[in-house]
Amino acid sequence: MPLPLQPERSVVTVCAYCGVGCALEAQTRAGRIVRMLPWKEGKSNHGHSCVKGRFAYNYYNDPDRVRTPLIRDSIDEPWREASWDEAIAFAAAGLRGVQQRHGVRSIGAVSSSRCTNEEIYLTQKLARAVFGNNNIDNCARICHSPTQFGLSATIGAGAASQHFDSILQADVILVVGANPTEGHPVFGSLLKRRVRQGATLLVIDPRRTETVSSPHCQATVHLALRPGTNVLVLNSVAHVIVTEGLYREAFVRERCEWPEFERWQALVSDPRYAPEVAGPEAGLDPEAIRTLARRYAAGPNSAIYYGLGVTEHSQGSTGVMCLGNLALACGMLGREGVGVNPLRGQGNVQGGSCLGSWPHVYSGYRFVSDPEVRASFEAGWGVALDPEPGLRLPNMFDAAVGGDFRGMFIMGEDPVQSDPNQNHVIAAMRNMEFVVLQDLYRNETSKYAHVLLPGSSALEKDGTFTNAERRVSRVRQVVPPLAGLQDWEVVVRLMNAMGYATQYRDAGEVLLELASLTPAYSGLSFELLERVGSAQWPVDAKAPEGTEVLHLERFPRANGLGTFMLTGYVPTTERSSERYPLLLTTGRILTQYNAGTQTRRSANSQWHPEDVLEISAADAIARGIRDGEQVQVSSRFGSTQLKAVYSQRVNPGVVYTTFHHAESRVNALTSDRSDWATNCPEYKVTAVEVLRVAAP
Ligand code: SF4
Repeated sequence: MPLPLQPERSVVTVCAYCGVGCALEAQTRAGRIVRMLPWKEGKSNHGHSCVKGRFAYNYYNDPDRVRTPLIRDSIDEPWREASWDEAIAFAAAGLRGVQQRHGVRSIGAVSSSRCTNEEIYLTQKLARAVFGNNNIDNCARICHSPTQFGLSATIGAGAASQHFDSILQADVILVVGANPTEGHPVFGSLLKRRVRQGATLLVIDPRRTETVSSPHCQATVHLALRPGTNVLVLNSVAHVIVTEGLYREAFVRERCEWPEFERWQALVSDPRYAPEVAGPEAGLDPEAIRTLARRYAAGPNSAIYYGLGVTEHSQGSTGVMCLGNLALACGMLGREGVGVNPLRGQGNVQGGSCLGSWPHVYSGYRFVSDPEVRASFEAGWGVALDPEPGLRLPNMFDAAVGGDFRGMFIMGEDPVQSDPNQNHVIAAMRNMEFVVLQDLYRNETSKYAHVLLPGSSALEKDGTFTNAERRVSRVRQVVPPLAGLQDWEVVVRLMNAMGYATQYRDAGEVLLELASLTPAYSGLSFELLERVGSAQWPVDAKAPEGTEVLHLERFPRANGLGTFMLTGYVPTTERSSERYPLLLTTGRILTQYNAGTQTRRSANSQWHPEDVLEISAADAIARGIRDGEQVQVSSRFGSTQLKAVYSQRVNPGVVYTTFHHAESRVNALTSDRSDWATNCPEYKVTAVEVLRVAAP
């Protein structure tokens, strides 16, 4: 019988999908969620939501949910059901057993940007205080790790400098490697509104996205660069700014390290970055580069927004540094309407970055190798901590293949599907002796796990998320956890079973502990969030209700000055060749979220039933491929089949697909090349060939 529409109860919580972090009102009746509505008071969405958020609930009670803990002695055996106590004891014994056989550093943990801040904090604590090592990483490794590195290096903070509404004071909006109209739709609408009001939109992206061109929003300049040439093009933009004297010398002299500016100025002045040289190499009209550079520098307020099209490259960190350099040189930081702003793909990527799910830093980005910092965590947690940085996620897989890394706790992640070079990841998973996975559903990774613990969705737990504008909002439990425990409770039980005694009354108490050890979060509590709704970090004694715009007077570096990083262009080795003549790049679509795990189990499943390959008509016809025909896509690393669709959004030589369906096996194509600084995979450029599937 259809459920009546009149709700009995409403709970305000946060959308668990993209980094906009819209506040939504979940309405329930008879103990079930019947509707999600945008919450009018939401500070990041002001009463709006997108088609993803509108249906962001059906997945929670999908028949596929794991509702009982499952265990097995070997991955070749069938699962057997277990009680929570039995499964936790089994997991603890399995992980400790690996350590006894292979050493303290032979296991590690991975957390997820779909988890709350409290769960992410506890998972790093599990690794450091209980496993006794720093082998902790998170899924931002494969998306925005270059943001932390590149922005910290230049402007001192790996986070958005602005709040979303700041865009309404921007005169020029530069979007690089992002498609907010589809990836971050509520923010995308705000961006379009500002463009309709008269702001100039500049876009650097290989594809003519919805953001570039839609009925009510047109980019003034679109640089459809060849995939892999971001740094070349951004240096060329800098070349114009420097050689034409468009930078703001007063800002640079007052707020930045002048000698570093001069070194950077010398680098980008090199004739190889002149638009007439760099443009053709990147497939661009030199004059378009000049126009974009002049418009950005002219402002008066120019704001940068960027996404994975910048970070997921072998020079991902360099690309982020280029953006930091540009903003500093042109004085586009430290007030409303300007800034450098990463658009985070998942709801809590920023929280994942802030709260210590990295092998080299504790929560608050403080180094594990710093004795003073380490002592504060040792005092807080009551154990001695390992001073050596741990393994990054790709290095864990490498070590597993090599035999030195043998066990893992994975919280809410599916690395077999999501991580690059799938065959390598599978080899690593097979080589491990004991894997504990906590997730909502069985997935590709669960095939290689020994324990599968039921996860709880964001609708079943309490905690906080930090969105892409640094806004910390309350995640509120709407319905009880299907399997009886919230994720943070499971982590605490595992800690206890492994011999580390700790208890928390509720998630609010976890927040208080993490706030006591994380300076930028020091003023946060559930009580504060009840009172003010949400707050952007830093939330501390100086800013008890949060901070909308960063870097007003100084940059959070030791001397308070911004600095310029040298960003020489090193072409990726992933180049087109006679055998693989096309360059594949990837992105998102409006109606689906990431791997589709949740959206494909909601009403969104009616849209976008499969990933398709966009190909220019010229490239398709040259290969005898008809519009809508199934094709074989092959790279040096693997192959898969997709439906080819003629598209004017990609230039000849470039093909494009989305990654919302596991069956598409897009990551079977991608290489294990990664960013030089952070190991973020080079997802955004893969040399491929596309051929008709031979008739049976
Ligand atoms: Fe908002 Fe993003 Fe959720 Fe859409 S997917 S409702 S834009 S948070």
